[in-house]
Amino acid sequence: MTIQKIGVVGAGQMGNGIAHVCALAGYDVVMNDVSADAMAAALALIGKNIDRQVSKGTVTAEDKDAAMARISTTAELSELGTCDLIIEAATEKETIKQQIFDALLPHIKENTILASNTSSISITRLASRTDRPEKFIGFHFMNPVPIMQLVELIRGIATDDETFHACQEVVERLGKTSATSEDFPAFIVNRILMPMINEAVYALYEGVGSVSSIDTSMKLGANHPMGPLELADFIGLDTCLAIMNVLHDGLADTKYRPCPLLTKYVEAGWLGRKTKRGFYDYRGETPVPTR
Ligand code: NAD
Repeated sequence: MTIQKIGVVGAGQMGNGIAHVCALAGYDVVMNDVSADAMAAALALIGKNIDRQVSKGTVTAEDKDAAMARISTTAELSELGTCDLIIEAATEKETIKQQIFDALLPHIKENTILASNTSSISITRLASRTDRPEKFIGFHFMNPVPIMQLVELIRGIATDDETFHACQEVVERLGKTSATSEDFPAFIVNRILMPMINEAVYALYEGVGSVSSIDTSMKLGANHPMGPLELADFIGLDTCLAIMNVLHDGLADTKYRPCPLLTKYVEAGWLGRKTKRGFYDYRGETPVPTR
């Protein structure tokens, strides 16, 4: 099956990046969000981010104009009815995702592929509540979407080969690389990355090292481009905690218990860069460790 038109539901951090890379790769994109402000902000941000690529010489001004012209926005999910693939990238709440798929079903074509960009919710469970579990897949982009090379493709128990191969082709056309993950809690990247971040928070909690000694150790001693605590602030500490809870609940193994210090930061509302405070304080010129 040929995919030409892609629907993106949710125009937040991930949705705008997904619309950006799909439009630049030549797909027609219809973006939907419950918030008109989010859609306007997403379009402005996509323009700004592609401008950066133009100034670096990786994209021409004509490519930018053509990509922007391929993106439309709508407040009505029914207008995604003609899409060949719909990628849901709305807020990470199962009830919200469920409502979106329920609302889409009456309007979409028989062979439309439904995908979710969820970081942690079971693809098999989301798929089972639709009329097409075999045409449902996890399409997990990394943040920031235009920069990160990987897309995890997560096969639910029923996902058929045709759907999987059609999505692999989309990932290739986006100039990215896919890795296939079975549908188990947090998939591959977060299954491995989050326990490392959680362990870094335990090292801080137990006084093994300070924020800067932990980050410096992993940057210079393990050649990581960012330290684990700096990375946690970038991802969002609430997101890190939510993923640890998914691993803990889903695998029922105490090795995934979230560090109490991570919980405390989240309770304080110190969620990282997005709230200007996390393991570092971002309110001044340069980030300052908070412990
Ligand atoms: P975000 O909060 O930036 O954006 C979510 C958007 O969804 C908001 O604009 C909100 O208005 C919209 N929305 C809420 N309910 C909706 C509805 N019923 N219909 C349409 N739009 C609706 O969140 P995000 O970081 O972009 O995350 C989106 C998804 O991507 C989540 O499932 C998340 O787990 C996943 N994800 C996030 C990251 C990350 O690093 N942030 C990485 C990979 C995957």
